[in-house]
Amino acid sequence: LSEDPNVARILLLRDREEREQSGLFYIQGVRFVNQAVETRAAIETVVVCPPLLQSPLGQILARRLKRAGTPCLKVAPDIFRQLSFAHDYQGIGAVVRQQWTPLSRARAAKGLCWVALRSVQAPGNFGTILRTCEAVGAAGLLLIGSAVDPYDPATVRASMGSVFGRRFVRTDFYRIRRWVRRHNGTVVGTSAHGGVDYDTVRYRSPVILLMGNERKGLTESELDLCDVVARIPMVGRTDSLNLGVATSLMLYEVFRQRRRR
Ligand code: SAM
Repeated sequence: LSEDPNVARILLLRDREEREQSGLFYIQGVRFVNQAVETRAAIETVVVCPPLLQSPLGQILARRLKRAGTPCLKVAPDIFRQLSFAHDYQGIGAVVRQQWTPLSRARAAKGLCWVALRSVQAPGNFGTILRTCEAVGAAGLLLIGSAVDPYDPATVRASMGSVFGRRFVRTDFYRIRRWVRRHNGTVVGTSAHGGVDYDTVRYRSPVILLMGNERKGLTESELDLCDVVARIPMVGRTDSLNLGVATSLMLYEVFRQRRRR
């Protein structure tokens, strides 16, 4: 670890436990810092490496944050590279506060619908889900249990910044069931072996799309939550679609129906 305690603190944020205890995460690159600023994310510290910061937008962002009173940590190129997890050496990064919504404050009928899931193995899939959620105006993600960390560096990168502005709710089976009932919501489970074609379901708000894990699909307790289990038809020998693709298709069907109405 670096001798500079501020740098050491950022390096520690690669560790999930540390992220959870501090409620912070680290981002790097002009695109990500720009999105954090645009979505008014709570930026705790901006990290700047002047010799590497060539992008005019990056320079504007660094000046703007400094002027707004955001603490600025200036580091040398070797330290900036050490902080980087994806060979992204644009000379700007930021420590940002995570945003969580308690289930009690999540409005079931908000946005297009909610996406609920218990576990995702590939950060790329979760990133894809976040990007599509942003594209269609989904309300946010109901994360059942503790398996998914939306602020994992690989997930944040895969989301291309869509992690900002998404609502994340951590919950469990018992609470989600109560919440769905209270708000008269419909849980649409998804499986290649589902009982109905996804484009024959009427997606009346509030809708919760429940997606399964890449390897195991929906578990018994997840299936138990569902009012209906929809299948996206497939021909050929593949037994299922990729999770990111299936979630995107489902979200776009809900989006298509709402737009038509
Ligand atoms: N072996 C798993 C199974 O038997 O369900 C495959 C899981 S699949 C890779 C990951 C998730 O994507 C599934 O749990 C489901 O939520 C969704 N999914 C994949 N293909 C689908 C399809 N054809 N129709 C509906 N949902 C699908």
